[in-house]
Amino acid sequence: MKSVIELEKISYTWPGSDRAALNIDSWKLLEGERVFLYGASGSGKSTLLNLLAGILQPQQGCVRVLGQELGQMGARARDGFRARNMGFIFQQFNLLPYLTVEMNIQLALYFGRSAEKNIRHSIEELMQQLSLPVDLLNRQACQLSVGQQQRVAMVRALISHPQIIIADEPTSALDSDSRDEFIELLLKCASVNQSSVVFVSHDVTLANHFDKRININDINSAQVTDHVV
Ligand code: ADP
Ligand code: MG
Repeated sequence: MKSVIELEKISYTWPGSDRAALNIDSWKLLEGERVFLYGASGSGKSTLLNLLAGILQPQQGCVRVLGQELGQMGARARDGFRARNMGFIFQQFNLLPYLTVEMNIQLALYFGRSAEKNIRHSIEELMQQLSLPVDLLNRQACQLSVGQQQRVAMVRALISHPQIIIADEPTSALDSDSRDEFIELLLKCASVNQSSVVFVSHDVTLANHFDKRININDINSAQVTDHVV
């Protein structure tokens, strides 16, 4: 099967640190695959997602997304590429609090320079699928409940039909019923476009929603070395 992300001999060290946070020899995300990535706090999960997104550049190795090497692109090209091909949902601070819900969603399209017509209609359709009343579009994001804000973040991540969806602990602020519902909604929407999903959490009870589970320590040899030294 085709891979949408390929990592090769990656090493990343945070500025000011004397040891690598990540060393990954090789890892692939396949087309349509839904991966649950788990591991203790500080094990490098968010660092890895930042590398996949091209927000951070590895000091060694290469990150290929949809056949293109991120390190070969200029910063602007990389930003546009990310906005067109990847949807992100984070644990918190997903939305700009004083902008309306609609402006928050439109921002994702602006960065991707989307030429899609009738965006308002697409936004309303997604809102309805996620049980978000359409009149929330005119509210400031900070006036919504946390659960609603996370679903708006999902709308924003999905609106450009990205091939890759990356979620970094997006359910941490939700109660356990809402967590399962959120994940099921996300996977349902992802399956419409056959999008690949990398979902990060330290809560392994969520793993059964996914095709594949990866403990980051099994791919990140930096952590192993740390323990030995
Ligand atoms: P996780 O998401 O699994 O909790 P992180 O990727 O955030 O782990 O962190 C991995 C390692 O990188 C930790 O040792 C952490 O202290 C370090 N780290 C994370 N973010 C930064 C940063 N902005 N600056 C310096 N070090 C960082
Ligand atoms: Mg993290």
